[in-house]
Amino acid sequence: MAIFMGHQNNLPNIVILGTGGTIAGAGEPGKATNYKSGEIDVQTLVEKADLSKVANICGEQVCNINSDDISFDEWFQLARRINTLANDESVDGFVIAHGTDTMDETAYFLDLTVKTQKPVVLTGAMRPATAISPDGPMNLQNACVLAGTPEAKGNGVMVAFANAFYSARMVRKINSFHCDAFSDGDFGAMGYISEGTATLLEAPTKRHTVDTEFDISDMKSSDLGKVAIAYFSVNADAGVLDYFVSRGAQAIIIVGAGNGEYSQSWIDKIDEIGDKCVFVRTSRVADGTITHQDVYDKSNVITGADLLPHKAAILMRLGLSKTSDPQQLQEMLRIY
Ligand code: ASP
Repeated sequence: MAIFMGHQNNLPNIVILGTGGTIAGAGEPGKATNYKSGEIDVQTLVEKADLSKVANICGEQVCNINSDDISFDEWFQLARRINTLANDESVDGFVIAHGTDTMDETAYFLDLTVKTQKPVVLTGAMRPATAISPDGPMNLQNACVLAGTPEAKGNGVMVAFANAFYSARMVRKINSFHCDAFSDGDFGAMGYISEGTATLLEAPTKRHTVDTEFDISDMKSSDLGKVAIAYFSVNADAGVLDYFVSRGAQAIIIVGAGNGEYSQSWIDKIDEIGDKCVFVRTSRVADGTITHQDVYDKSNVITGADLLPHKAAILMRLGLSKTSDPQQLQEMLRIY
């Protein structure tokens, strides 16, 4: 049962799960660089963001780490905690304070595994809490606004950042420095958040949350499929594919050039490896979709469509826990 700070009946009840990241980062006062992620606890973040006019808050610390250190264990912990708290009628929505580096990955994993219509919103910051002008408090406020907005229900997991919000499936970090660091790629944002109001402009059409086949309640992280990501570039050594297979990869996401393409030496290596491994063609190009090409697509090679390589990897890890049939995995890449 969640215990909320504040009991204003006109405000939504939001659970904030702290995981660390720059939003909870601290360094030399006034400096925006050379800080340590995950230093400040969730209660302090809540105080700094002055959320008393936005929501009644229940803060919980799940972990306090750099998001580059997030592992499948934290993903399972977050998904399970949300699934448990979602049954509590007093909870209206969830906010996860998270590092920006892997925020899009955690968002997509949760989008495929949490079983609730209640809004789940990730946010973070590009500047640490001790910077001269941190962006975290505003982002946290906006995330709580979105999580408490009735129209946000049923739209899956979202990321709120710099006055806009994005679907978990499409969102990506597009800038390593600017505060406006996220985008939806080709399709813009799902909506805007301003002056305490979230305006929904677009809704996701792919299956998510309650409509997926992935139930992690009895799963262990070791039940996820073994998936590696191989980046292609000019003259890249196809031996990397052998290496991943020797390490037990059941699927390899190929970050190809252009339309998910790669050299003849990679085509030959993939033929040689054969049905021991599923290969998923994605692209190192930020936007667009991968179309079928006879020369690449074979019984063991499928296309990642418009999913980013690291998102295709998440879906394949979950997918491989159900099937190793390439055609069924291809279907998952189409519907999720
Ligand atoms: N390395 C940090 C993290 O992802 C970066 C950030 O939060 O902006 O935890």
